[in-house]
Amino acid sequence: PYLKNDLSATDYRGYKGHDMLAPFTAGWHTTDLEPLVIQKSEGSYVYDINGKKYLDALAGLWCTSLGGNELRLVAAATKQLKELPFYHSFWNRTTKPSLDLAKELLDLFTANKMAKAFFTNSGSEANDTQVKLVWYYNNALGRPDKKKFIARTKSYHGSTLISASLSGLPALHQKFDLPAPFVLHTDCPHYWRFHLPGETEEEFSTRLANNLENLILKEGPETIAAFIAEPVMGAGGVIPPPATYFDKIQAVLKKYNILVIADEVICGFGRLGTMFGCEKYNIKPDLVSVAKALSSGYMPIGAVLVSPEVNDVIYSQSNKLGTFSHGFTYSGHPVSCAVALETLKIYKERNIIEQVNRISPKFQEGLKAFSDSPIIGEIRGTGLLHGTEFTDNKSPNDPFPPEWGIGAYFGAQCEKHGMLVRVAGDNIMMSPPYILSLEEIDELISKYGKALKDTE
Ligand code: PLP
Repeated sequence: PYLKNDLSATDYRGYKGHDMLAPFTAGWHTTDLEPLVIQKSEGSYVYDINGKKYLDALAGLWCTSLGGNELRLVAAATKQLKELPFYHSFWNRTTKPSLDLAKELLDLFTANKMAKAFFTNSGSEANDTQVKLVWYYNNALGRPDKKKFIARTKSYHGSTLISASLSGLPALHQKFDLPAPFVLHTDCPHYWRFHLPGETEEEFSTRLANNLENLILKEGPETIAAFIAEPVMGAGGVIPPPATYFDKIQAVLKKYNILVIADEVICGFGRLGTMFGCEKYNIKPDLVSVAKALSSGYMPIGAVLVSPEVNDVIYSQSNKLGTFSHGFTYSGHPVSCAVALETLKIYKERNIIEQVNRISPKFQEGLKAFSDSPIIGEIRGTGLLHGTEFTDNKSPNDPFPPEWGIGAYFGAQCEKHGMLVRVAGDNIMMSPPYILSLEEIDELISKYGKALKDTE
């Protein structure tokens, strides 16, 4: 068992007992532990206030795809700040960067034709917007009962009231009186953890599709509005879908006229080696949420992409329903949009998809090589996403006692060796910047190996 203070792997930092109510942080952490205070970034690295250097294996929070000091993004922000730091996009007034970015996004998303982009400041706001759009759409169609959403256990869709409800992680619901009653959760598609003895991936996917259909029939198809899914589950532990999963799930949804929402907040813009996760898994969504790598994390921005079918209803019924009364002061913020436009330009110029596909095999294979460790249950991932799950006896049914804090201990050892990863219970996650060199991948794997040795 570790001691609470072991989690603070770096020396004295000087901010113990600080004044911030920190997001996703245990109360006792902010009081009893020194926070890790990050001060500057350089390429794939960040530095803390003591000057210690860390390989940023989570790209900030799954977002700084172009690394830490992309000066073209700084220049784009500065230029926009000088010209027009802010104007809104309400009431048919708007700004050029937001119009240009909407067009770019629609051109970039090719898995299905999209008609419009709605801007938000975050992924959570994008997913909240999805619910309101879908309700507005069904009200416009005279289907006031078609309002329920189906999401999946272990999904993460954000932390506002609605997006936390959609999320399928108990920690987001407990103590907050969530999920909201219109949200239902269906199976997590984690083959290793949930398959039956002798069941193939395809059979597992068939069973999950049958379970989804049974849930729809039990609730009444006329009450189910939409299904939301991340192409690869991110914060739930990096869980790629099993073979044939999305084909089978989409067939069921189509049968009952249920909209498909792809949450591309992590997977979008190259992370999986395709521009969007929908391309990789042949998902044909009606609505899409994006954020994070849209601006390489340099400015807060998210968006919802809306299909022609949904948009046509909103358009044709607008006389009846009036204004689409939803939006944020900073929807389409010109500085965020200017930075996002420059980010997308860089992705194209540097052929970021080719870059991700060039480096990701080394990343995936290097980490897979640790699969034999006696404390690792499963190593999984695709593209530049990685998940490690610590269990005993290689079995999903033999978790280590939570009070041992294996995951937290491993995370602290990574920190000690100069690397930052995401820890959630006994799951470790990584989503490094796309700009990693092959030498930096060697370094990442070597640091992971050292932390694993310390933990074993
Ligand atoms: N959707 C997914 C798949 C995410 O991973 C996240 C954040 O990690 C969100 C939505 C929420 O985004 P934000 O934190 O920008 O509100």
